[in-house]
Amino acid sequence: MKIFAFLVLSIFATQSLLAQNIMPSADNDVMKITFLGTGAPRPSTERYGPSIYVEAGDHKILVDAGPGMRERLFEAGGFEAISGVDHVLVTHLHFDHTVSISSAWLSGWLFGRRVPLHIQGPVGIKDMMENIKRAYQWDVDYRVMVGVPIEGTELIVDEVSDGVIFDEGGLKITAFPVEHMPIDMASGEVLGLRGETIGFRMDYKGHSVLFSGDTRSTEQSEINNVGKDIDLLIHEVQVPSPGATPEANLANVSLSVHSTPQQAGLVFEATKPKMAVYSHIIPPGITADDLEVATRPYYKGPMTVAHDFMEITLSGEDIIIGERLKQSDGKFEDSKVLGK
Ligand SMILES: [Zn+2]
Ligand SMILES: [Zn+2]
Repeated sequence: MKIFAFLVLSIFATQSLLAQNIMPSADNDVMKITFLGTGAPRPSTERYGPSIYVEAGDHKILVDAGPGMRERLFEAGGFEAISGVDHVLVTHLHFDHTVSISSAWLSGWLFGRRVPLHIQGPVGIKDMMENIKRAYQWDVDYRVMVGVPIEGTELIVDEVSDGVIFDEGGLKITAFPVEHMPIDMASGEVLGLRGETIGFRMDYKGHSVLFSGDTRSTEQSEINNVGKDIDLLIHEVQVPSPGATPEANLANVSLSVHSTPQQAGLVFEATKPKMAVYSHIIPPGITADDLEVATRPYYKGPMTVAHDFMEITLSGEDIIIGERLKQSDGKFEDSKVLGK
C-alpha cells in the first residue's frame, strides 16, 4: 500500500514537472532584468556595486560585475544562478564594474559551470583577464589537482567597441561607445587614455533593453540614436552636491564624466523609452523621490529608480516592475561540482 501511494505520488510529481516543462516555452519569450547592484564606487550596504543580471531564454548574462555581485547573485538565484552565468558584458574597466569578474569566473566554475566564461568588453579587457588568470593560476591548478573538473576554467575574451557583438538563440547584443573619458575641466578636451566605455543594447524576441554604461550624456550621445523607442533605458546618474565646500567640490569633479538628472532626463525625452530606469546612482543615499523631482522638468514619461533586487520583467507588451524573490535555502549538491 505504501509503495502504491509512493508510486502515485511519484507519477503526480512527474506530471507536474512535465507541466512545468511545457510552460517554459512561454517563459522563453520573457526577458528578466534583476538589479544586483545599483550603486557606484562608494561602499553602501543599500546599493552594491554596479551589476545587472539578465535572463533571456537560455541566456544568463551579467552586465558588469561590481563589488558584492556574487553574494547578490547567490541571493537572487542560488547556486544555479552562480554557475549558470556564462557571459559577462563589461562596460569599462573601472573597478566598481569589474572587481567581481574573478568571482563570476571562479565561483561559477567551482559551483558547476562546465563551459568557458565568455567576456566581452572594451580595449584593455584582454589584458585585465590575462592578469586575473595569472593571479589565480595557483588556485585553479590546486582545485583541479584535488578533483574539480578543468572544464569551465577557460576564458573567451573579446575586445569590442561598436556594432553587433553577439547574435545567438534570438538574442542580439549591440555595443556602442559612450563618453566617460577624463577631460580637462577648463577646456573640455579629452585627456587621452587607451580604452573606452561602451554601452549595450539587447534585443530579444521583441523586447529591448539599453544599458548606458558610465557616461556623461549630451545631445551628441550615441544613446539618443541606439535607444530610440526602446522598452527599457537604464541610465546612470549623479546628483550634484550642493554648496562650495571642499567635499562638495571634490564630489562634483566626477560630473565631468557622469550625467546629471537633467542630462539623463533629456536623453529619456529624446528616446522616449517605454520605461526609463536609473541605476548606478551617485551618491548612493539619494532617494527615488529626489531623483524624480530633479528629472521631471526635462522628461515627463514613465520612469523608475532601480534598487538592489528590483526585478523588471518584459513579457508580451507588459513591463512588470517587482522584487526578486530571494532564494532562501541555497541548497548545494556536491555531485554537481565534481561532475559526477
Ligand atoms: Zn561606475
Ligand atoms: Zn566609470
